[in-house]
Amino acid sequence: MPGSIYNSTLAADSYSGTLANIGQAFPEYNTLDKLWASWYTWMQNDVLATGLMIFVIHEFFYFGRCIPWMIIDNIPYFQKYKIQQGKVNTFKEQWQCTSAVLLSHFTVELPQIWVFHPICSYFGMAYDTPLPNFLTMFYQIALFFCMEDTWHYWNHRLMHYGPFYKYIHKQHHLYSAPFGLAAEYASPIEVMVLGLGTVGSPILWCALTKNLHIFTCYFWIVLRLFQAVDAHSGYEFPWSLHHFLPFWAGADHHDDHHRYFIGNYASSFRWWDFLLDTEAGPKAKADRLARQKAKAEAKAQKALATGSASSKKTE
Ligand SMILES: [Zn+2]
Ligand SMILES: [Zn+2]
Repeated sequence: MPGSIYNSTLAADSYSGTLANIGQAFPEYNTLDKLWASWYTWMQNDVLATGLMIFVIHEFFYFGRCIPWMIIDNIPYFQKYKIQQGKVNTFKEQWQCTSAVLLSHFTVELPQIWVFHPICSYFGMAYDTPLPNFLTMFYQIALFFCMEDTWHYWNHRLMHYGPFYKYIHKQHHLYSAPFGLAAEYASPIEVMVLGLGTVGSPILWCALTKNLHIFTCYFWIVLRLFQAVDAHSGYEFPWSLHHFLPFWAGADHHDDHHRYFIGNYASSFRWWDFLLDTEAGPKAKADRLARQKAKAEAKAQKALATGSASSKKTE
C-alpha cells in the first residue's frame, strides 16, 4: 500500500481537522500551502491523492470551461461573433459529444491518471510544501506551451496522413463547426498520442532539470484545457487573445482547421504553420498561390536574363 511523505501524526479523521493540525504545526505556510499539505496528510496515500486530485481538476475545469460557451450559444447578442455563421450545434449533438468524452475520461484517461504520480516521482517531481513561486511557474508553463505546441503540430499533421486520418483522427473531425465540448472528442489513440504532448512535456523537463513541482503541472494542465476548449469554441471576439498576442492561435486558427480539414495543425501558437506554410483557409491559400506565382515569375525572368546574356556573349 503506497504511503505518504507527509507526517501521519498530523492526520485527523476529517480534512478540516487535518487542516487545523497543519495550521498549528506550520504557521508560516500560506493558505494554499496549508490546503495542499492537508490534502496529502489527510489522504496518507500520495498516489491516490494525486490521482484523485488530477481527475477532479480535469473534469471540473474541462466541463466548467465549456459552460460559458454553452450559455453564449443561447444569447443572441453574441451570435455576430460566431465564426461559422448559421451553424447550430443541437442539444442532441452536444449530449452525444459529452457522453463520448465522459466515457473516454473514465475508460482511457482514468487508468493513466493512476500511474501519473509514480512516473512523476520516478523523475523527481516534487509535491512537498511550500509550493513553487509564481515566476518559476510562469516560465515553466510558458516552456510547456511551446513544447506541447511543437509536439502537437507534427503529430497532428501526421494524423492527417491517409490511414492515420481514416482510422484515428477522423473522429475528431466529425464536427466541421466545433464547439467547446468537442475539444476532447477523439479516438483513444489520438487522446494518448496528442495527450503525450501535455503530460510528457513537464515530465521531460523534470527528467532533464529535476526542477518541477506537481502543482505547476496541475496549473499547466488547467491552462492547456482552457486553451483547447476555447480553440474549439467557434467564437472570435474583438477581445480574443490573438489580437493582443499575434502569435497566439485561438479559435480563429483552429476553427479554420475544422472547416477546411487541411492546414493550421498547431495547438497554441501560429508560428509552425506560418513558417512551414501550412496555414488553412482561402486567404492563406490565395497568399500561398500568389507567393508561388511570384517565385515562378522571378525564376523565369532570371532564366530569361541569363539566356539573353549568354546569347549576347556568343554573338
Ligand atoms: Zn485535424
Ligand atoms: Zn479540433
